[in-house]
Amino acid sequence: MSQERRYSFEFFPAKTEAGHEKLLATARQLAAYNPDFFSCTYGAGGSTRDRTLHTVLQLNGDVGVATAPHLSCVGDSKDDLRDLLNQYREAGIQRIVALRGDLPSGMGMASGELRYANELVEFIRAETGEHFHIEIAAYPEMHPQARSFEDDLSNFVRKAKAGADSAITQYFFNADSYFYFVDRVQKLGVDMPVVPGIMPITNYSKLARFSDACGAEIPRWIRKQLEAYGDDIASIQAYGEQVISEMCERLLQGGAPGLHFYTLNQAEPSLAIWNNLKLPR
Ligand code: FAD
Repeated sequence: MSQERRYSFEFFPAKTEAGHEKLLATARQLAAYNPDFFSCTYGAGGSTRDRTLHTVLQLNGDVGVATAPHLSCVGDSKDDLRDLLNQYREAGIQRIVALRGDLPSGMGMASGELRYANELVEFIRAETGEHFHIEIAAYPEMHPQARSFEDDLSNFVRKAKAGADSAITQYFFNADSYFYFVDRVQKLGVDMPVVPGIMPITNYSKLARFSDACGAEIPRWIRKQLEAYGDDIASIQAYGEQVISEMCERLLQGGAPGLHFYTLNQAEPSLAIWNNLKLPR
């Protein structure tokens, strides 16, 4: 694999046996492209604790690609987090994605002892030293709950300096927001790789809903074209593939240190972009 750039694929733990089998089939297909790692999301508050653990161990062991569990701190006690870290370490896991997480509405904030991701990064370092490569989340278009862009930048810098090694961004459709973010954090003394998170476009209504919630902006020129396709899924996918491939090309040409694909447990949309970019296998 490329020494300079890293490529990774993200999954979410499936709820059903059939979904899990599909995830494994997707992972095997993607493993053939020799990515640097897989990652698997975690339901804040521990809602996917066992499923994430099980999926990570299977991807890492049976599928044979180094896999990074996501770990979020809101709603989990320090004992729960310590227990998971120990299990991952014993299983030979070496990379972790450290997050605050978003509790499902109604769960409240009371049960967690750590409030922000910078505290989780500190906790992981205190508990496990330098064992894990720690990834953190970055928001080129600002985290939706931040008071201001500048405030969010300061919070990112604090989290990075708490002991993180690299960052993965929230997805975005505007390459300039990424370049601006990287430039700003570098000027604030953070020199770690910030890898763009890439969301293939496969379905407009779901994407619009999700983007509203996570604060990713779909630019008007993309939105209008996707709306115009209506229910024509094939055209949405073909257009999405072209737009995202072109954005990735710009990102890589502009120095992005790799790409992290939000696969939503599907291989084809990410692979189509991968092949368009002629990324290494
Ligand atoms: P933080 O860095 O803690 O930031 C959260 C908010 O608080 C921001 O507005 C920030 O400006 C502010 N802030 C940060 N630190 C402080 C501080 N010390 N004092 C005051 N304010 C502060 N969610 C999941 O539930 N499970 C997952 O598996 C998951 N995976 C993700 C993977 C990636 C790559 C990304 C980008 C996001 C992921 N998320 C996941 C979503 C993420 O958990 C949410 O966006 C969450 O709201 C913020 O998490 P964070 O780690 O970025 O939080």
